[in-house]
Amino acid sequence: MSRMTKLDIAIIGGGSAGMTLARNLSSSDTSLVTKVFEPKTPTQRDCCWSFWSTDEHCTQITESTKGHWKQWRLVDEYGEVVLGNGRFGYTCLSSAKYLQSCEDSLSGCVSLTRSKVDSVERQAAGGEISVGDDRYQALKIYDSRPSQHSEQGLRQHFVGWEIKTSKPLSNTDMATLMDFRVDQSRGLHFIYALPFSDDHLLIESTMISQKIEDKQWYQDAMTSWLKSQGIAIAELVREEVGVIPMEQVTKSEDGLQTIGGSSGAIRLSSGYGFSSIQSQMHELAMNLSEGNDQVPQSMSTALIRMDKIFNNVLLSRPDLSKEIFMRTARALDGDEFARFMLGSASIKEWLKVILSMPKAPFIKQLWNEVVRG
Ligand SMILES: Cc1cc2nc3c(=O)[nH]c(=O)nc-3n(C[C@H](O)[C@H](O)[C@H](O)COP(=O)(O)OP(=O)(O)OC[C@H]3O[C@@H](n4cnc5c(N)ncnc54)[C@H](O)[C@@H]3O)c2cc1C
Repeated sequence: MSRMTKLDIAIIGGGSAGMTLARNLSSSDTSLVTKVFEPKTPTQRDCCWSFWSTDEHCTQITESTKGHWKQWRLVDEYGEVVLGNGRFGYTCLSSAKYLQSCEDSLSGCVSLTRSKVDSVERQAAGGEISVGDDRYQALKIYDSRPSQHSEQGLRQHFVGWEIKTSKPLSNTDMATLMDFRVDQSRGLHFIYALPFSDDHLLIESTMISQKIEDKQWYQDAMTSWLKSQGIAIAELVREEVGVIPMEQVTKSEDGLQTIGGSSGAIRLSSGYGFSSIQSQMHELAMNLSEGNDQVPQSMSTALIRMDKIFNNVLLSRPDLSKEIFMRTARALDGDEFARFMLGSASIKEWLKVILSMPKAPFIKQLWNEVVRG
């Protein structure tokens, strides 16, 4: 005989969005009985989450921070663009530590069950959730399970190594966001490198394209980049593999309210989602404590449209992709670039980027977007 437990709020998935919402609810005055359902431990989901942050934001996440850089750069065969030294820095978190700190902060009427949700039966208000032999009746359900994406869409895909180096690294004050001096024959390809200390480095071979390559291909790219930089591996600490869809999410078929990545909170043109998910969950927790249960939209319609145009240019003119990123970096200063990547650029900053772009391919895609509506 299965048990039935009554909940005010059920959160399906305890990743970035689910655990941030749970933590915000736990620290608010709300008495809403809330449960997060997540099958994996934080360690099983360990990866690096990076984003632009101000010093004030950094102090709130110190315990999970792996590295913070006041400067970052983009490099191609003609030179480098170095940005930073303003209000924003580039920060990298251990997702395992972040999720663990969220778990540790849960108290009162907010709790976590380390189990997978098997099925959800939607009802007029909320729904019924099956978890193994247990059943839960929730007045409100927020679903953060990853949404389905087509195999043909544009994706950001990467393989990364966290390594200990045999000799001290020469520059640990700067994050390398994109180094394009690698094989470009299969699509937009760059090396991402974050020095955590003088002998501890994260390196990723990242592609923006439709086709996922064999793992060996990314590994070969990292090996040859390390060699070109004179860096030898003393120890491989961890390997990270990721695929981030860069196309708009479709509405959930079961009509559940979605949060986080599955609600469209990951920026289509860059794959960054951590900051927008933080804001979305902060706002949702505040709304809930005031009796409003609607999920705030994480990206404006205008930003989604601009990103779709940008991605369509990358798809139709892969030969221009590298130049587009380099031109964007050249057009802006560090804080402007950070705001642009965070999706909060001003109209003036957008204009600077637009004016720096090769015009014809963007006008063509803008026309297509207008015609298609
Ligand atoms: C490898 C990788 C690296 C990324 N790096 C960055 C970055 O550096 N910076 C950045 O801004 N963004 C990054 N992103 C994008 C985005 O920030 C992350 O994807 C973020 O984790 C999205 O949060 P989420 O809560 O929507 O989804 P997730 O964090 O993926 O959480 C969804 C959760 O649902 C759980 N789940 C699935 N099925 C069930 C079920 N049946 N029942 C219960 N739970 C279930 C999963 O176990 C998972 O924990 C990255 C994405 C990936 C994939």
